[in-house]
Amino acid sequence: MDTAYTIGLGNNDTLTRKRASQDYIKFWDEEANNLHWFERWNKTLEWNQPFARWFVNGKTNASYNALDVVSQKNGKKTAILWEGEDGKTRSLTYQELLDYVCRVANVFKSIGVEKGDRVTIYLPMIPELVISMLACARIGAIHTVIFSGFSSQSIRDRVIDSRSKVIVTADGGFRRGEIVKLKQVIDEAVSGLDFVEHVLVYEHAKIPVSKGEKDKRWADLVNGAPEHCEPEKLDSAHPLYILYTSGTTGKPKGVLHGTGGYLVHIRSTFKWIFDIKESDIYFCTADIGWVTGHSYVVYGPLMHGATQVMYEGTLVFPTPARIWDLVERYKITILYTTPTALRMFMKYGDLLPNSKDLSSLRLLGTVGEPINPEVWRWYFRVIGKEKCPIVDTWWQTETGGTMISSIPGLETVPLKPGSATRQLPGISMTVVDEDGNDLPPEKKGYLVAKAPWPGMLLSLWGDDEKYKTVYWSKYKTMYYSGDYAIMDKDGYFWMLGRADDVLKIAGHRLGTAEIESGFVSHKSVAEAAVCGIPHEVKGESIVAFLVLKEGIVSSEQLEDELVQHIRKVVGPIATPDQLYIVSKLPKTRSGKIMRRLLKSVASNEKIGDVSTLEDGEAVDEVRNAFNELHRVIRKNKIR
Ligand code: ATP
Ligand code: MG
Repeated sequence: MDTAYTIGLGNNDTLTRKRASQDYIKFWDEEANNLHWFERWNKTLEWNQPFARWFVNGKTNASYNALDVVSQKNGKKTAILWEGEDGKTRSLTYQELLDYVCRVANVFKSIGVEKGDRVTIYLPMIPELVISMLACARIGAIHTVIFSGFSSQSIRDRVIDSRSKVIVTADGGFRRGEIVKLKQVIDEAVSGLDFVEHVLVYEHAKIPVSKGEKDKRWADLVNGAPEHCEPEKLDSAHPLYILYTSGTTGKPKGVLHGTGGYLVHIRSTFKWIFDIKESDIYFCTADIGWVTGHSYVVYGPLMHGATQVMYEGTLVFPTPARIWDLVERYKITILYTTPTALRMFMKYGDLLPNSKDLSSLRLLGTVGEPINPEVWRWYFRVIGKEKCPIVDTWWQTETGGTMISSIPGLETVPLKPGSATRQLPGISMTVVDEDGNDLPPEKKGYLVAKAPWPGMLLSLWGDDEKYKTVYWSKYKTMYYSGDYAIMDKDGYFWMLGRADDVLKIAGHRLGTAEIESGFVSHKSVAEAAVCGIPHEVKGESIVAFLVLKEGIVSSEQLEDELVQHIRKVVGPIATPDQLYIVSKLPKTRSGKIMRRLLKSVASNEKIGDVSTLEDGEAVDEVRNAFNELHRVIRKNKIR
């Protein structure tokens, strides 16, 4: 084992794991005591497979736990340090946040939003986004946040699916120095939808917008609203939000999360993973339109009274040093980001991060995709200066919170670059074969959860049948994650990619991450994506798409070298039949590579509808990338 990476924070709690392994239901029951409940539950878990209800008949409220609890102790504590792309700043204390949330909650009530109603939120990364979510939670309305920048059609689909009564949006937002006209997109998205009663518009970009009869100016309603709003005492299973998944593998699904179980999961995992302290300045780079933003920008940090940086815009704008500049200026102590962002930062070299003072950092995190070991080491060495533990957190929109990660807030264990390490206490993950049998260590298989967990989705919105089919039909008694993985002999998980993307080559099964990490370990490669296409003899052959680092020029010699490299580090089985150098890869807004689309390109199939996955700008990027890929493929065929 690589003990060079045994970086801890001095925590050595062995009891928690022990308690959890003895009786996971009792364990979560005890964890739930950390939350504020208006009424205690009378049953910890009701398990009508595949539907789990946690803390049955308990009454609680998410906004109360995120705001009132902290405000009562220390209302002056800074909750949000906001910065816009143009350098504007705002700061809000817990008390200010609470007052603001109450005013918005009162506005919601005044325009007829009732418990259980859906509110679609389409806002940029500004405090009003957090505030709108918490205002919904306060009165028991169900929030459904959509990435600011999604196209009008994808918003329309989601608004129709959730039948939202109210839409909250802004005139515009900032991205890469430009203004995205959000209100205009909303106008198109909700045109003719009678069930949408009001559109609340926050003036952020200060641009002119049209004014329809449903439109209300945020300031007109919110400024004069009363600052007190009793939190609704909600049933533990009351829905907190619907969130449509990022859509890497197909049509977005409306994942439905509850209140009590979800909050318990988020509260405990946030503490274990980030070891949050009074003095920390936490920064999670995720957009709130993604589940990471819900759990670990909004609910997790706020429930712990953390101070966090919130940033609107692109992390590499106006220069690629922006992210490191933020770390330096705000003295950020905990940085939580994605492999895709890290690969982008890495592409620009070490000079930029080395030119900034990053000494405030004490803990680093990653989420969203398997992190290539090479990228992990760079993060550890260049950003963390070999003193910060890295938490590689595996989870999904459906799991609500983290399931697999190292937990420096509890224990110090050796880290292995590229492994998310072990399952969290109270969580039961394993790797099984096609028939659902447990696999011995080092064998590749499907990642499943063997027992329900508190943050588990309630269902898919309005579609229990689909919920059963997607997650509970491959294995009747286990939750199917859809990921391909290995567990090593130390119980560490290694994510190999999506089960649907597994390549079957001459009887061998290879996860996309295995091959991609092989490519990324070459000094010239910034990013890699592979897919399989049918092959008469081998079953499937590998098509690789590579993005080179800044300043590296593609050549036939380099391509040959890359093929030799992959043969050496992964094995001859991983030799690609086709290899293309491209300038960018198609990704979702949460930064995930859309391999299914690459596969369509590589096998000359029609590309499915991408407009539901991406914002307008990203759709163009995706299309351009496809066109570029097509061109390269043709060129190579001629050659
Ligand atoms: P859809 O389900 O619509 O295809 P999605 O799966 O991309 O969308 P998310 O719920 O945001 O939407 O992503 C969860 C997935 O991201 C996991 O199933 C896994 O494949 C990947 N993932 C997340 N974190 C990690 C991690 N730390 N290591 C490896 N993979 C990860
Ligand atoms: Mg998924």
